[in-house]
Amino acid sequence: MPRVLLVEDEPAIADTLVYALETECFAVTHALTGTAALEAAAATRFDFAILDIGLPDMTGLDVCRRLRETTTIPILFLTARDAEVDRILGLELGGDDYVTKPFSPREIVARVRAILRRSQPAAAGNPEPPPASDGLHHDAASMRVHCDGTPLDLTAHEYKLLLTLMKNPGRVFTRDQLLDHAWDDPGAVTDRTVDAHVKSIRAKLRVTSPGAENLIETRRGLGYALSANS
Ligand code: CA
Repeated sequence: MPRVLLVEDEPAIADTLVYALETECFAVTHALTGTAALEAAAATRFDFAILDIGLPDMTGLDVCRRLRETTTIPILFLTARDAEVDRILGLELGGDDYVTKPFSPREIVARVRAILRRSQPAAAGNPEPPPASDGLHHDAASMRVHCDGTPLDLTAHEYKLLLTLMKNPGRVFTRDQLLDHAWDDPGAVTDRTVDAHVKSIRAKLRVTSPGAENLIETRRGLGYALSANS
């Protein structure tokens, strides 16, 4: 049974989420404050964290930063305002996704399931090929990218963006080209979105294999390229 740490200070929201998650066979630990969440995380190994941004004693972003010192578990943010989304994307926190309030508990459960599916090894009977020992490798069957043999926990957009770069090592892609390749509706997002996602991918590469973040090169004034040596 996957263990979920839910950090949410509004009891009404927390109650509906706890109920929805437990109904779907998740074991939920609910914390009302960031401090309580960090204490719970120190005592128990969780498989997933859901963090409200607006907490009474610290922000969910602070909680994420502290959690990331010791764990790479998937993290889903709950945010009350669209304005917070830029902060989530802009910081190199390694959050996996976010949902804007109001949301339905079912939507949260679906996101948690999708993120866990992405972050877990392929099921038996559909084994992944043994990952190579260095650099980036794409496994098309599981739709995952491995870095030095470890699967990266990427969001859908991060995955598509990184894959675009990987298909043409050394080629420079402009932000517009990356938007076209990795977003179904590129008109809805800005160049900054690409920068924020590259930041996040680099953070995940660095956590997986220090130094690997340098595989994505910034070509000032032009765009991004994957190091031709990767
Ligand atoms: Ca709140």
